[in-house]
Amino acid sequence: MSDPLMIPCAHCGGLNRLPSARLDDAPRCGYCKQPVLNDAPFALDEAGFARQARGDLPLLVDVWAAWCGPCRAFAPVFEQAAARLRGRCRLAKLDSEAHPRLAGQLGIRSIPSLLLYRDGREVARQSGALPLPQLLDWLRGQGIAPLP
Ligand SMILES: [Zn+2]
Repeated sequence: MSDPLMIPCAHCGGLNRLPSARLDDAPRCGYCKQPVLNDAPFALDEAGFARQARGDLPLLVDVWAAWCGPCRAFAPVFEQAAARLRGRCRLAKLDSEAHPRLAGQLGIRSIPSLLLYRDGREVARQSGALPLPQLLDWLRGQGIAPLP
């Protein structure tokens, strides 16, 4: 991984240059002054998707919809995962009903679906919800080590 890292802000999408050693210090965005790395998953839209997928930290996307019971049941697990992955992986949610064209482009056939991006490319995909330990194990298998 290159250092410093180029990381899009979770709030405004502005690209921030951050030394990897500073990721655990809750760095603030040079543009909007909010924390670059969110403790909670942030919402993706079509305009921000490509930019967010490109950052130097991996991006894990939960594709969901409000009418989907398994998606709603998975939401708290995804939020807990975000706290365990701060500074290691960014977590975002894509509402497939609000953004059907993007969900179609991504080839989403069932929800919830989990998509992992590195450098703008999808590197792994999981269809269906996972309990937290299995989700963290799946990410370990992708080289992403959660906080203890
Ligand atoms: Zn910002």
